[in-house]
Order: sequence, then structure tokens, then C-alpha cells
Amino acid sequence: MFQIFVDRDADNNPIARIRYSACDRYAECTKAFHEQYESIVLLPSRKEFRRKLRPVKDRMCRFCGKKSPEVTFKTAAHLIPSFLGNGFLFSDFECDDCNNFHSLFESNLTYYMGMSVPFHPNLSRARQRKVKNFENDLEVGTGIFEKIGPEVAIQIVSDGSGKNHFTIDESGKKLTVNFARKTYVPLLVYKAILKMALSAMPVDYVYKYRRAFAFLMGSYEPPTEGNMIFQVYAFVHPGPQYNYPIGIIWEKKNKDSRMNTHHFQLLFKNYSFQLALPYFDDDLWMYDGQENLLMVAPPCIDKAFAEKFGVPIFQTLNFSNKDPVKGDPQEVTFTFNEVLFKEGSIDHNDKGEGLSV
Ligand SMILES: [Zn+2]
Repeated sequence: MFQIFVDRDADNNPIARIRYSACDRYAECTKAFHEQYESIVLLPSRKEFRRKLRPVKDRMCRFCGKKSPEVTFKTAAHLIPSFLGNGFLFSDFECDDCNNFHSLFESNLTYYMGMSVPFHPNLSRARQRKVKNFENDLEVGTGIFEKIGPEVAIQIVSDGSGKNHFTIDESGKKLTVNFARKTYVPLLVYKAILKMALSAMPVDYVYKYRRAFAFLMGSYEPPTEGNMIFQVYAFVHPGPQYNYPIGIIWEKKNKDSRMNTHHFQLLFKNYSFQLALPYFDDDLWMYDGQENLLMVAPPCIDKAFAEKFGVPIFQTLNFSNKDPVKGDPQEVTFTFNEVLFKEGSIDHNDKGEGLSV
């Protein structure tokens, strides 16, 4: 879906660059974005990009400002949550107290992503993993299921009589699974992504983002309702998922343009999430009530990939709300080659005994 080129800087640290030719629908947006922004950080969750961490005694927490030994650093702090597929990117600047505090954001992101994450089999861990939705009537498992065969598979089990969890479109070769998300707070989902962005930010910028850190930690509470800065631009692409999550920090080239200095983009599974980083010191002159431009970072899907599997779908997600969202419907659609109905094993309208994809 794209190529990554790896270089080394003067200190022998890996530097990655991403390259792809955009599909027609997003060609203009890709060109416009790259005219204004360049990537300053590209963090693929791959072994080669594992960072050397500072010894515990030399650590300082980026979030609360406290140092070791005043605070402890026992827990492995993920730059990108492990449930999004990160096994290699860790930080040495997040203390255990802050890590614990951030777990609330991560839980809300998990609830928001809902059942779409377990629908992707984790090929590197071919063991069974099961996730239930909040009513406990739909279960998604990934792994090797003896009844299906030796390949890694996804098994979806519905116990929800009459809930129509599955819609099968045989002629269109599509299977849609419907369910409800667990209750989540949109602003906490936003903070989960902001926390990743602030973790990926080069250390030199941390002080200039102190308002964003204060907002993340709850000591600064600006009005959020309806504020466009709390929008997240999202793409969902059909076809195979990204092999591993990647965090990207984009920086604007022209310091005088009325655009945010930094954007954070997270590529994971079949998604691209992008947020404009708020409250950077150098951007405060733009908070004057006049219009600023929020640019959309393209989903880094190559033209040939989009032609084969379909063009990514764009969505603007508004995460400014502090109120919990209950029973939010979500659907996941699969395309398939053929359906094999095993006699007696499927009855999706009544008993919902089981369907395997
Ligand atoms: Zn801390």
C-alpha cells in the first residue's frame, strides 16, 4: 500500500520516509497537503524502529514533569496502544501514575473502535482471542479454529435472537455485521489520540505544547463543544490492513500560513486517523477568531492498491462532546468470495447458532 525508505541520521538512528502514488480521488488532496506539510517523525511499529530507552534513574515524565525516583517507571509505556498492534514502540517519558491515568483514554478508544479491531486477525499471534460486545450477545474470536481448519480465521458468534447481527448480500458478496459500541466519551477518545501525538512529538517541542499537555491531564479545560480543533479526520480503506501501526507527525513548511503547525496521523488496521495538534505556542496568534485552514492528510494508500480493493472512505469525526454516548450503532462490512453454508450450522434469523467467515 506504500513504501517506506529507511535512512540513518548522524547518530545512526533510523529515519523513515513514506512514498506512494495517490489514487485519483485523493490525488489533489495529496498534492495540496504535501505542498504545505512535510513529515518530521515517522514511527512504524517494527523491530528496526525500536528505540533505546533511557535508564530508569535518568527518566523524567513528559506528562507530569516529575523525575525518577519521585515517580516510578516500572510499566512499559506504549507510544501506540498494544491493542492497535504496537509491539515495538515504547517511551521512557511516561511515569506509572500518568500511564495509569491515561488508561481511561485508552479504554474509551477501545470502546469507540468496538468490534472493528477484533475483526482483524493478528497473524503474528495465531492463538484464539475473543472479544464480546457490551450486551454479550455477539462474540468475535480470532485464531486457529479446529473446526474451520489450520488457517488463522475470524469466528463471529451471535446469540442475539432477532437482533439481525448479520446481513448477507450474496450477489454483492458482502457480509455486514451490526452491533452497538460500549458506552464511550468522545472527548476521551480524542485524548487517547492526542496522547499518542504528544508522545510522538520531538522533545524540543514539548515545552511549547504545555497547554496541550495541561488539557490532556485535565488541569486546563477550554470550551470544547463544537470546536473544530477536536475533529478527527478519518479514512477507512477496503482490503488488507496496514501490516503494523504507524504514527506520523506532519509539520507545516510555511510558518506564516494560517494552518496548524503540526498534524498527527495514525495508520492502523484499515484506518487513518488524523488530528491537528492544539495549543502550540507558535500557533496562538491564529486563535483570533479568523478562519484557519485544516488540511486533510491523505490515507497513504497507493493507487494500485485502491484500484484493486477500492478507494478509502473519508469521514469527519467530532470528538468534542464530554457526555457519554450510549448504544452507538456500528457496522463492519466484509467482502467475500463465496459462502459455504454448512447444513445445520447457521440460522442467523432465529437461533443465531453460528457463522464463520
Ligand atoms: Zn507522570
